[in-house]
Amino acid sequence: MKVLKFGGTSVGKPERMRSVEQLCPPKEPVFLVLSAITGVTNALVEISALATNGELTQALAKVGDLETLHRNFASQLYAQPHSLEKAQTFLTQEFGKIRATVETKSFGITQERILLAEGEILSTHLFSFYAQEVGREAVLLDALSFMKIDENEEPVLEHIEQHLQVVMQKTPHTQLWITQGYICRNAQGEVDNLKRGGSDYTASLVGAALRAQEVQIWTDIDGMHNNDPRIVKNTFPIAELSFDEAAELAYFGAKILHPATILPAQKYNIPVRLLNTMQPEAQGTIIHNAVQNKGIIKSIAAKDGITAIKIRSSRMLLAYGFLRRIFEIFESYKTPIDMITTSEVAVSLTIDQDKHLEAICQELEKLGVVEIDTDQTIICLVGNQLSQAQGLTAKVLKAVEELPVRMVSIGGSAHNISLLLPSSHKNYALNVLNEGLFTKQAQHSSY
Ligand code: ADP
Ligand code: ASP
Ligand code: MG
Repeated sequence: MKVLKFGGTSVGKPERMRSVEQLCPPKEPVFLVLSAITGVTNALVEISALATNGELTQALAKVGDLETLHRNFASQLYAQPHSLEKAQTFLTQEFGKIRATVETKSFGITQERILLAEGEILSTHLFSFYAQEVGREAVLLDALSFMKIDENEEPVLEHIEQHLQVVMQKTPHTQLWITQGYICRNAQGEVDNLKRGGSDYTASLVGAALRAQEVQIWTDIDGMHNNDPRIVKNTFPIAELSFDEAAELAYFGAKILHPATILPAQKYNIPVRLLNTMQPEAQGTIIHNAVQNKGIIKSIAAKDGITAIKIRSSRMLLAYGFLRRIFEIFESYKTPIDMITTSEVAVSLTIDQDKHLEAICQELEKLGVVEIDTDQTIICLVGNQLSQAQGLTAKVLKAVEELPVRMVSIGGSAHNISLLLPSSHKNYALNVLNEGLFTKQAQHSSY
């Protein structure tokens, strides 16, 4: 079984949705995970914000726009009036539910999550009517009946595995399974989601639950590029990445993958292939256990919204147990630390969740003088066995020599060098690093 996930742009137009069907091999079992039509989740976020602020008229006007979008989409998708009729009946029913949710008197987080789930519910229904129209024996599975997260918002793989088996056993001869990406139930059994971009994560969780042969992430670009193509010109796709390299890139901001996508696939050694719906013949990127191309940087990613915290204390000098006390404070506020650098009298570390920043700082102040820098960006350079590459660190630092680099982290793992700098310098930094590391000369040199 292969798991194929198609993102928002890949189902974003009726003709694209038709090509999704064409890309599903006809003679082997395929499990399809679909995102909402491009822009729909953003619109649902806006509608929720309006409803939360009591701006009901504007919220309902936007619901009207979404309904028109889906009705126009349906009217272009199908060849047979019968399919269109099915879709129109479904849309009437679903938009009735959406309006009722928006009109809920005490609209809150529960209603917001119910609304956010609608994008994927709509797109998967429209697609499954199409699959039936072209004669596929397709079965649409409700992701809410098997996708689950716990009280820490972590997916519960055993639950997913067991419940997926139960629902799939009802129609064992099906060749094309379809489900919604992104959506799930939480520990309270309410509708919830895997955070923005979460359909990738659904695909790898389903892949792990089914011990799939391969997970394919189909998107609008021909694989993982060597740098962020939205910021740097002339980036190029990378043919092969290891699980660790890809996980690092996804976690540190390569938008092509949800940050947690790699972990479930890696657990069961399931290859993940990144492919382009608009250019299906392109090779894309394969992510697997391979360890090749030692000592070169393969790709650069950047993660914004980082806060740097420095704790300075002379008590640290020749003392032990100081770091433990610092880490315990972050642990008690369930706030993960990304980067860390130390000197004999100070520690600098970064977090990307500042929900408890004030409380954390109050506690840290008992240990030393605390300084905070907000609006920072981590730039993460990823490759394999980077410590074996002579002169590589010098090359990286040379590229950013004009920039106010706040932290540097090397040696934490064999495949990562991280830099922290103010977000205002991010675009420039990505470009100079690109020039310094990926010019033709750099690519072919062995460092
Ligand atoms: P989908 O809607 O299919 O999930 P996304 O928009 O989430 O697609 O991800 C694809 C986009 O990720 C690309 O269009 C590209 O702009 C962006 N991106 C950012 N960094 C990278 C990278 N290193 N390699 C490829 N794409 C990247
Ligand atoms: N539709 C969701 C989003 O836009 C999930 C996804 O596309 O992966 O974030
Ligand atoms: Mg995405």
